[in-house]
Amino acid sequence: MGLLTFRGGVHPPEKKELSEHSALTNAPLPEVVYVFLANHAGVPAKPLVEPGQHVLTGQKIGEAAGFISANLHSPVTGVVKGIEKIYHPVLGKPDSAIVIEREGEDTWQLLEPRKPYEEFEPQEIVERIKEAGIVGLGGAMFPTNVKLSPPKEKKIDLLIINGAECEPYLTVDYRMMLEKSQEIVRGVLALIKALGVKKAIIGIENNKPKAIEEIKKATKGTGIEVATLKTKYPQGAEKQLIYAITKRVVPSGGLPMDVGVVVQNVGTAFAVYEALEEGKPLIERAITVTGEAVREPINVIARIGTLASKLIELTGGIKEDEVDRVIFGGPMMGTAVPRVDIPIVKGTSGITVMSKEVAPSRESYPCIRCGSCVKACPMYLQPFVLNLYATNRLYDKAVENGLMDCMECGSCSYACPANIELVKNFKLAKKVYRTLKGGKR
Ligand code: SF4
Ligand code: SF4
Repeated sequence: MGLLTFRGGVHPPEKKELSEHSALTNAPLPEVVYVFLANHAGVPAKPLVEPGQHVLTGQKIGEAAGFISANLHSPVTGVVKGIEKIYHPVLGKPDSAIVIEREGEDTWQLLEPRKPYEEFEPQEIVERIKEAGIVGLGGAMFPTNVKLSPPKEKKIDLLIINGAECEPYLTVDYRMMLEKSQEIVRGVLALIKALGVKKAIIGIENNKPKAIEEIKKATKGTGIEVATLKTKYPQGAEKQLIYAITKRVVPSGGLPMDVGVVVQNVGTAFAVYEALEEGKPLIERAITVTGEAVREPINVIARIGTLASKLIELTGGIKEDEVDRVIFGGPMMGTAVPRVDIPIVKGTSGITVMSKEVAPSRESYPCIRCGSCVKACPMYLQPFVLNLYATNRLYDKAVENGLMDCMECGSCSYACPANIELVKNFKLAKKVYRTLKGGKR
């Protein structure tokens, strides 16, 4: 299979070299964790613990409260202090989190039975994934069991595993593919069994030749294919990944299942392996802590609910006089946060501390109708037109012109020579539009 890609997109400086050589290590156990009830897409979980209650590592502390919701488990052994409001890195405002103070080392409560995935029935795999609170670890945090349970009329014939990691700076999926390739492949085989599909393809960008080599070795004899993708942002976005690999086009407002595909991330496949064969619920994840304004960028495995500040300390700290902004995620799709004492959630794949030198404050100018944003948009939108509507509060017109198809990838903003904050305006316009329409699209 040759180099595969999609139309549009951009190629920002990759900056992977800052952290790609850092092998995964376990972060020290945090003294306190903050586990958000909204640690996934959909309805927040219902807490199952009381203040003062002692909990074990892996013990269920929150129950999925709807179809699109996920269980929560204690990331440490300790005592529940209560439920507090703390700044949520995805919601961008304070939200409820279960606060647990650690007491000593881990005493685990594992999921049973633990056995090779081959010994699980397909429905048991889906149930275990649900029980383990596994959500998409690529950032979207959509409950994985829901993606594995499409409506009967949707015929799925292909599983795509996303190993693109197109976001600049982040190298956590790369390290996972180098260091956990066997486990990832067992997770993929379990997902194949759960979905009942015959075909699975792992897509990896061609700037990760060692990962491609490792995954090819690990998939030998399994029937799983490895597709080499052109390095281009946002190659790892679901619709672009599906198009690059299959040339199938997910319709406007549609989902991958509308074209017979389910997409999962490599980190999610690893979590599936751990849940089935080691009985571990999702209480930790691999994360890149990077950027020019930290001393020694690293990749670590950290407990969910650890404060970002504690992970930044592991890099030797922030270069205070150089820091421009702290981002949960990478610079393209991530969210800038106002401080560093904010807990990581299940979807936090990176913390990027940008320096002033690489992220200078940018003055913006009027649109010069150059069309660069149109060329860059992988969703075939006209960002400069959307921007006119969005900034003039003509939200219905913006929606008519595809505002809701914008996946907020930031390619248009990156390409704009006038430095217009297009994606920021689109995010705000969507928010206002949803509020005006009573939360509905
Ligand atoms: S309009 Fe939306 S989808 Fe298109 S490039 Fe801009 S942010 Fe990405
Ligand atoms: S790239 Fe910027 S200046 Fe060029 S058309 Fe788009 S919004 Fe206007």
